[in-house]
Amino acid sequence: MALDKPIYLDHNATTPVDARVLEAMLPYLTTDFGNAASVNHAYGERAKAAVSRAREQIAELVGAEAKSIVWTSGATESDNLAVKGVAEMYREKGNHIITCKTEHKAVLDTCKHLAERGCTVTFLDPDEFGRVSAEQVADAITDETILITLMAANNEIGTLHPIAEIGALAKSRGVIFHTDATQAVGKIPIDLDAMGIDLLSLSAHKFYGPKGVGCLVVRRKGPRVRLALQMHGGGHEGGMRSGTLNVPGIVGLGAAAEICRREMPTEAPRIQALRDRLHQGIEGQLKYVKLNGHPTERLPNTLNLSFAYVEGESLMLKMPRVAVSTASACTSESLEPSFVLRAIGVPDDLAHGSIRFSLGRTTTDDQIDVVIEQVLQAVNDLREMSPLYEMVEEGIDPATVKWTEH
Ligand SMILES: *Cc1c(COP(=O)(O)O)cnc(C)c1O
Repeated sequence: MALDKPIYLDHNATTPVDARVLEAMLPYLTTDFGNAASVNHAYGERAKAAVSRAREQIAELVGAEAKSIVWTSGATESDNLAVKGVAEMYREKGNHIITCKTEHKAVLDTCKHLAERGCTVTFLDPDEFGRVSAEQVADAITDETILITLMAANNEIGTLHPIAEIGALAKSRGVIFHTDATQAVGKIPIDLDAMGIDLLSLSAHKFYGPKGVGCLVVRRKGPRVRLALQMHGGGHEGGMRSGTLNVPGIVGLGAAAEICRREMPTEAPRIQALRDRLHQGIEGQLKYVKLNGHPTERLPNTLNLSFAYVEGESLMLKMPRVAVSTASACTSESLEPSFVLRAIGVPDDLAHGSIRFSLGRTTTDDQIDVVIEQVLQAVNDLREMSPLYEMVEEGIDPATVKWTEH
């Protein structure tokens, strides 16, 4: 008998390819394998037509023009192209970039790299919920500011920045606005024009498309954004990103976008209701649980909880039937607590006991019941073994204990 696979609640890390997406992709791996740049014969023509259709599908999901889409290998590349591309192209105009401490590493590390090369970067502090305000951004703008880069939704805690307000501010001050919308796209409505976004990064594998494909949306008018090339070669994508197009991947990205656009109005509330039931099921039956992230301005699928007197890694080991992420997973092998939780002021000991549950299209009601039961059992078991927890239950504040010194 095959072992049951664990329940997958790690959709912010990646999602399975939707069966309908796979079906749309298959012909472009086999019969319609042409190079989209070989337009002198039918093979190339068919590939090119499929790519054009995918442009329309993405454009419609994010309120952009089809022509403004530049295909990439994913959001990491899109973020690099946006941030470095602007910094290098607008160097004459200024060298100041505004971002936030809780951005994805693809943006943070790119900004740090530019800071080492003479750019001035302001890393804004978010509030306790992980949000920055438009006023904070306004206060940080100088005559030298050329770029504001702030994510639409945070991958660890799900918090949403006030993107439309920041977009309007950027417009009024003549500063280019990039948003890493990798977690937002497909989960909440995003509209490039209505939100005043100039550059937008997204990635297929975060919304039921394949891995290794994404795009950067580059505004073409009001203002026309120019970027310094990061990939030299055949001059594909209007010269913005050379390299033979990943046609099956792009077709998958387009199909995934269309499904999200059609199904978001019913899917998002369904997932949010499950997410809230999970939250209540845990919080209602366990003490010392803290929500990380904004209570309302948050992705509908994301629940990041800190369990005091418990260690996140041990908690995961105690729940082999549940695939979730510890807060430190994004900073990979290191034992450092999550820099995102640190930036919102979660103490290190609590941060170490944090778990991100991220729900998705395949999450069911029954799965949530199992997960609640597993979490309660695991946390209770671990706390029973914790001397610290015992003290707290006996009314002793561990902070007041005088430990013997050696
Ligand atoms: C996953 C993710 C990325 C990286 O995307 P890839 O396509 O895997 O390179 C960037 N930003 C955010 C917010 C993400 O969640």
